[in-house]
Amino acid sequence: MHKDNGQVYVYTFFLMVASVYILVGALLGTGCISKRDIPSDFQGVVPINGPTINHVVKPGETLWRIARNYGVPMEKIAWINGIEDPTKIIAGEKLIIPGVVNKTGSPDVSLKDYVPFTGSELQWPLKGEISNSFDANPFHRHDGIDIPAPKGTPIRAAAPGKVVYSGDQFSGYGKMIIIEHNDELSTIYAHCDVLLVYEDDIVTAGHIIAKVGDTGRATGTHLHFEVRKNNQAVDPSDFLTR
Ligand SMILES: [Zn+2]
Repeated sequence: MHKDNGQVYVYTFFLMVASVYILVGALLGTGCISKRDIPSDFQGVVPINGPTINHVVKPGETLWRIARNYGVPMEKIAWINGIEDPTKIIAGEKLIIPGVVNKTGSPDVSLKDYVPFTGSELQWPLKGEISNSFDANPFHRHDGIDIPAPKGTPIRAAAPGKVVYSGDQFSGYGKMIIIEHNDELSTIYAHCDVLLVYEDDIVTAGHIIAKVGDTGRATGTHLHFEVRKNNQAVDPSDFLTR
């Protein structure tokens, strides 16, 4: 009968769809295929609020910046595109940007506020005594100064600048921030507990950028603070005044 046939088709279709969902789920669970291998039709199962657009990665562009420019959480873009390491995106790669808020993807206007730092003196990133000084001796080299402080103590930008790194991809340093102050000078803040600024953020001197912790290779909670001049570690004490 016509009615029965219709029901059979509906059931068969339902079973087929269910089987595919179970199969994809099982393969993902066992790690046989990555999310990137899922046919684009199946990416529709991810709940998306707002329109989806395609973005071609420009040279030098980071996932952080793309996410910020579109007003979409970075984790969401990483998930839908099957990106496991957000630091490894390639120029020319086409990304699906879900739930776009800012359709133009135009750079943050605040970037224009970045004025190169011209001073010679840096502010202390936090108040405290130096427990371990800078040491250029290659046998017991120490590229910065250590300032012990309780976990959670605010860490402040030593000078105005632009955040060029916020993450934990550098072995030993734990969670850290790098701020560029001008063409030659940058500062590094390592072993942080929490990072409070992101790549491309513009900060003023004294802006709270992170909190003291003991992430990475650290004995006790402290800030490891470095000053780099033309990429060379120099003694921070030469830039700080009491
Ligand atoms: Zn140190």
